[in-house]
Amino acid sequence: MQSKSKSKSGKVYLVGAGPGDLGLVTLRAKECIECADVIVYDHLANPEMLSWSRDDAEIIYAGKEAGEPSPTQQEINTLLSEKAGEGKEVVRLKGGDPFVFGRGAEEAKAIADAGVEFEIVPGITSAIAGPAYAGIPVTHRAENSHVTFFTGHEDPAKTESAIDYAALAKLGGTQVMLMGVERLEPITREMLKQGVRGDPPVALVRWATTGRQETLTGTLENIGKRVAEAEFEPPAVAVFGDVV
Ligand code: SAH
Repeated sequence: MQSKSKSKSGKVYLVGAGPGDLGLVTLRAKECIECADVIVYDHLANPEMLSWSRDDAEIIYAGKEAGEPSPTQQEINTLLSEKAGEGKEVVRLKGGDPFVFGRGAEEAKAIADAGVEFEIVPGITSAIAGPAYAGIPVTHRAENSHVTFFTGHEDPAKTESAIDYAALAKLGGTQVMLMGVERLEPITREMLKQGVRGDPPVALVRWATTGRQETLTGTLENIGKRVAEAEFEPPAVAVFGDVV
């Protein structure tokens, strides 16, 4: 990245902003923010890091605003390519890691298709840092040999769900769910139906690594109810398994 000088053809940096704590942002991400002409940031990217940007940087919010329509993925893709097409260095700032349930791959593909150069700056994902800040290791030599990340955004009742809950049940180990906290009740029901034993511990960590972090624990059988009772709202990661 060239500081303050405009390169002839622009470039898009798909940058992971980490899970929230400013101390968990990479040096490369900070460098990209400091040099950018344009920053397009998401709901889950801690906006405090925008203070590292140049005074003349154009800052664009692309997350969901209450009551306001959020830009479509297509609009975001077009915006990134257009700004870079003007010769600008564009930072696309995304929560956690851009390639972990972050649509980073879709954006990279669209940018490449538009003939624009891009770079990926990985970030610390909430899938690992969230549990860690609640004291939960995603692996433990005595407890598990594999970890699965899955999205709860899928509707488990959907006939063509991409998530094979029977396979998940058989797999065991640690499972980390991103998104879909509001669907935890049907998801846990489906896991139990597919033969997961009912007593493994489950933990939910919301606003992990920020000053608002909260943890809720239970078992597969009661966590759905506990979430509803506590009105435990997103964003949260859920960890299933004995590591909890
Ligand atoms: N790319 C991101 C994930 C994007 S999907 C990453 O690597 O972390 C959005 C989901 O991430 C949220 O619904 C939630 O499950 C999780 N998430 C992101 N930041 C979080 C945080 N600070 N605390 C808890 N969950 C978080």
